[in-house]
Amino acid sequence: MIVTGKAMLAGVMGWPVGHSRSPRLHGWWLQNYGIDGAYVPLAVPPERLKAAIAGLPAMGFKGANVTIPHKEAVLPFLASLDAAAEAIGAVNTLIVDETGAVHGRNTDVYGFAAQLDDAAPDWATATRAALVLGAGGAARGAIFALGETGSIGEIRIANRTPERAKALIASLAPHVKSTLVAVDWKDLKSALKGADLLVNTTSLGMVGHPPLPLAAGDLHGGMIVYDLVYVPLETALLRAAHQAGARTVEGLGMLIHQARPGFHAWFGIDPEPSPTLLALLKADINGTKV
Ligand code: NAP
Repeated sequence: MIVTGKAMLAGVMGWPVGHSRSPRLHGWWLQNYGIDGAYVPLAVPPERLKAAIAGLPAMGFKGANVTIPHKEAVLPFLASLDAAAEAIGAVNTLIVDETGAVHGRNTDVYGFAAQLDDAAPDWATATRAALVLGAGGAARGAIFALGETGSIGEIRIANRTPERAKALIASLAPHVKSTLVAVDWKDLKSALKGADLLVNTTSLGMVGHPPLPLAAGDLHGGMIVYDLVYVPLETALLRAAHQAGARTVEGLGMLIHQARPGFHAWFGIDPEPSPTLLALLKADINGTKV
């Protein structure tokens, strides 16, 4: 795709930013839809974040994604937040309006739920109790998405550091309809009793990290098991879930879905999470070519 002088601009701000898969993802959509636009990596050190946000409208950008370590630090520089960003206290998508004001959204919530809808469409009616592992940024998005529907009675939260789970519950409980309960990290097997949905939002199972302390025998065939970790594509948790006959949900689909609202706002098209794009990202993660 050749970029002209009229190209629409967006990018991803992070520090470092070189690991981000977003330029590949958005670049593929731009090319696929023949859009005169560009999506670029923006390496922004923390002390320059305020200037970088002011620079978006100054340079005619439609907006940007924000990633580690800026997702929370960016809040004071924004004109408004959507409900998800407000509840979670973190932003991953910036939209510049026609007056030059910069608005913040959290599309991880949308991405989490859209991937669950794709892989297990009946999840809301099939889940009376859910167990979420972790209490970091990804957990906040997942719990907000599960809890705002009102269909899940109880969401149990197990985190290695119990204080973090309690703080998460205190800040998210007013924003969700489900009952949030902290459970003991050392007793995941008891916490799994009666749980129809298991969500891993910890970094356990990711390349370079230890696996989760769960095996096929701890899971059951009627469950849905969702792992947000997508490197490797099939984690030990998802393998164990397959062995137990449970339905599985891969984290890579969430990565694609969370990118869609930003692309739509900046470039005017709601992009398809196509099989070709999925294959491209899978090959990228596996270090192979398609
Ligand atoms: P984070 O805020 O740093 O939280 C990390 C979580 O992992 C915390 O709950 C932490 O527990 C737990 N943890 C780390 N090491 C552990 C260990 N050795 N034993 C037990 N628990 C451990 O990170 P995040 O942003 O939430 O991301 C978490 C994971 O989700 C990452 O793998 C990330 O790639 C993935 N993710 C995927 C998507 C997607 O689109 N699929 C989106 C966002 C994130 P403590 O509180 O005790 O430290």
